[in-house]
Amino acid sequence: MSNECSSCCLDCLQTTPGTQPSSSDSPYALHNLLQAGTLTLDISPDVRNVICDHNHAEDEWHTFDATPLIPLLNDSQTIEFCREMGFLMQQHFLSITYRCLDNQKMILRVYLIPYDLGNVQGKLRVRKDNILNPAKRYLRNLLPRISQDFGRWKGSLSIESGKKLIPGMPVRESFFSPHFLFLKSLKDSRTLSDIYSDLRSPLVSPVEGLGNIASRLLGFEDNLEGLGMRVKLYNYQRLSIAAMLQKELDFKDVPDPLYISLKTIDGKDFYLQLGTVEVLQHCPMTAPGRGGILCEELGQA
Ligand SMILES: [Zn+2]
Ligand SMILES: [Zn+2]
Repeated sequence: MSNECSSCCLDCLQTTPGTQPSSSDSPYALHNLLQAGTLTLDISPDVRNVICDHNHAEDEWHTFDATPLIPLLNDSQTIEFCREMGFLMQQHFLSITYRCLDNQKMILRVYLIPYDLGNVQGKLRVRKDNILNPAKRYLRNLLPRISQDFGRWKGSLSIESGKKLIPGMPVRESFFSPHFLFLKSLKDSRTLSDIYSDLRSPLVSPVEGLGNIASRLLGFEDNLEGLGMRVKLYNYQRLSIAAMLQKELDFKDVPDPLYISLKTIDGKDFYLQLGTVEVLQHCPMTAPGRGGILCEELGQA
């Protein structure tokens, strides 16, 4: 049988490497985790013989282990980054597999471990601060770097699409950057008008009651006769009023707005709380707040 793995060392090539036993029934088996995307490191292909554990992970790549790799690296930033990944793997925040390519590149597949993973008795939700605090720092460094290029996930270095796991999240400029550099990277060059046009309009569902006003507003062919309107409303204004009515009258729970919705490489939804860097498979629901601010650009026709 031919071995197509470009990470296999000379020993592996003589004895087809096995797949790690028991990996498929563990709650941490790769198929239970979230395929976040890839990272690419500049690492000499010579190291593959030294770091090889002669085993294939469930995805046929090799399990990344920072410990044997770190002493072989010269670049302090890559060393620090590998150390951080080692910590996150050890503490069950993520799993990583790798493949070495011949041109000094190593592609890492990053699998995120959601806090609400099944069959771990909820223990990922109750981690101590001495684990959580460094993990948050490391994840804020790592997550914005994750690429969601499909070719790269498959192990190809062809032109990268540039699609990121979290679009718009700034990458820290240097792994050792002082805090002001981090702030500088957060600087936003958009104009106020750009920011307004980036805001998504709320999705409106008509609330019942009040003479069915909300449904009438959303049915654009309805001329709203009998509602006492003195001016003709534009469609976007009708949407705004229906949204305000929903905000005041609808008491149904809504997805917690602190979580942003993201997708894995294979199209599964998952949720990230940016403040705490908590990753969940299911978005928690919360009671909606009443009131709000209605923003509209002046003079818009
Ligand atoms: Zn291999
Ligand atoms: Zn090997």
